[in-house]
Amino acid sequence: MILVSQESAYKAIFEACEEGIVVVDPEGHIIVANRAALRMFGYSSEEMTQMEIERLIPERFRQHHVHLRSGFHQDPIPRKMGRGRDLLGLKKDGTEFALEASLSSVELAGQVHIATFMIDITARKEMESVLIKNEEQLAQYASELEQRVKRRTIELEKEVETRKKAEEETNIALKKERELNELKSRFVTMASHEFRTPLSTILSSTALIERYSTVRESDKEKRHLKKIKSAIANLNGILNDFLSLSKLEEGKIIPNFRSVPLHQLLQNVIDEMHPIKKKNQEILTSLSTDTLEIVTDEHLLKNILINLISNALKYSRESGTVHFRMEVEDDQVVISVEDQGIGIPEEEQKHLFERFFRAKNALNIQGTGLGLNIVKNYTEILGGSLHFESAVDEGSTFTLKLPKRQK
Ligand code: ADP
Repeated sequence: MILVSQESAYKAIFEACEEGIVVVDPEGHIIVANRAALRMFGYSSEEMTQMEIERLIPERFRQHHVHLRSGFHQDPIPRKMGRGRDLLGLKKDGTEFALEASLSSVELAGQVHIATFMIDITARKEMESVLIKNEEQLAQYASELEQRVKRRTIELEKEVETRKKAEEETNIALKKERELNELKSRFVTMASHEFRTPLSTILSSTALIERYSTVRESDKEKRHLKKIKSAIANLNGILNDFLSLSKLEEGKIIPNFRSVPLHQLLQNVIDEMHPIKKKNQEILTSLSTDTLEIVTDEHLLKNILINLISNALKYSRESGTVHFRMEVEDDQVVISVEDQGIGIPEEEQKHLFERFFRAKNALNIQGTGLGLNIVKNYTEILGGSLHFESAVDEGSTFTLKLPKRQK
């Protein structure tokens, strides 16, 4: 064991202490200072010894300090670090710095001395000020954020208002469009009805002219009369389609199912087709039974047959034959209309039942593209099905299957 005297140990500890220590006599003179204290204030040991302790604080506090010091002498209760105010130290070079001190009284040579322990708290103060700054900045951010939220809220409210207005405008526009559509379909319905009467007058007058003028009837007259009748039939067809379409659209078609004698219906249809037949065109019928009644809607079925047969005539050449077949298959009737006409191009067949569809090879033949769409809809209403086969320049066959009775 190395022997060390107590005194040299005390001295070594005193010097090694990281806190600055100065011991002051009753008159306020520094009698000893350790290395940390010298470093802290920038003095040499010789300079600091015998220096008045007040030299270590800025001048403006000195007088008050003398007062405090004598107070401590009279009542030397030790004061711990961190208790009490922050102090300022003054270095030899005149710079000031923050320090914290604790005081203890020490009796030396029978007199009360004060030992002051000091630490430089510049770094801590800086840290504190940084923290304060951060806090201030945070508060600023928070208030900026609040402002932004407020601004955005106002903007959003405005946006909602604009959107509402736009919606209202759209609603008004939609309402107007609906009204306009209603007006259009009412006009179509009305016009179609109103055209019928003058058309049938023209038709019956034409028939009368035909009948009364048999004696002096020339071929030319005959041709023109036929043209007039065919034009009227055409117009009638278009008007019927328009009416059917607007009724379908309004959901106004309610089938009236009852027993319908098919042979008679077919005869009526064939008679009606007479005016639109081209030169030497023929409709051949082949019916598997003499009499056949099915439960269906006569008006809808007639419309279907007229559409199919008139298409077959329209899209066939002069002298062409249209075959009409009807047979019974279990609980359904199968009706087919076959022609040897222009046919439907294969690539266009998928559009056949679309409204206003007209195939490329049919464009120079008059038509609206509405008929088959109506036929398809009516077939569904009657609980039936519709199929077709077609090849360009060979012909087309439309096959309609209808239940004999409605469920
Ligand atoms: P529209 O005859 O007034 O044009 P449709 O709806 O009855 O209207 O027919 C749609 C299209 O289908 C016609 O334009 C035509 O191209 C084609 N088409 C219909 N029936 C036949 C047919 N029997 N032969 C050839 N093409 C047909």
